Amino acid sequence: MRVDTIELLRCPAAHDSAPLVTVADTRDGDRLLSGTLGCPVCGADYAMRDGIVYLTSATIGVARLPSAAEVTASNGMRTAALLGLTEPGLRVVLCGALAIDADEIEQATGAHCIALNSNTSMHERSGADQLVVLSNNALPLANASVHGLALDITHAALLADARRVVRVGGRVVAPVSTSVPRGLRELARDDREWVAQVEAAPSAPMQLRRG
Ligand SMILES: [Zn+2]
Repeated sequence: MRVDTIELLRCPAAHDSAPLVTVADTRDGDRLLSGTLGCPVCGADYAMRDGIVYLTSATIGVARLPSAAEVTASNGMRTAALLGLTEPGLRVVLCGALAIDADEIEQATGAHCIALNSNTSMHERSGADQLVVLSNNALPLANASVHGLALDITHAALLADARRVVRVGGRVVAPVSTSVPRGLRELARDDREWVAQVEAAPSAPMQLRRG
């Protein structure tokens, strides 16, 4: 995983957000390959192996990884277009079945992809930032840390956390069977997915004064 992505990771436990303390054992350039990520708040330790960060207990396992059929049904350039990846260096999260396209999207657009709960068959050959989480209720990332989020139906619960993690103006792509959360403005939809933009939080009401 790239070092600048690791700095955005947060402990998935329910407590105040704090950066994880990373102890790297092996690295390759700007990527860490193995080590431990410790939470200074609750004391949890998370493992990094083969460049993949496991923000979960290895004994519990992963919530659900996509099947091979789900993986082949996705389409990287379509996802890149829906996410509006028009300039290089934008960081996006691709969840579940959509994560298989991370490398295609990185090569075509210059984006930095965080592949969350991707099919394990792609882990070794992928250059994307691989993240495995157990909880599907919250994204283990800092506030306003990414430019986009695309998820499959198995990760629909993460929509509740989308507005916190995606920057204002960033895009969220999700299956049409899900609802667009509050704070997101729908831009388009077809028979498969909708795409919406994160709107600025409303400012506090202004006091109007009589002249
Ligand atoms: Zn913690």
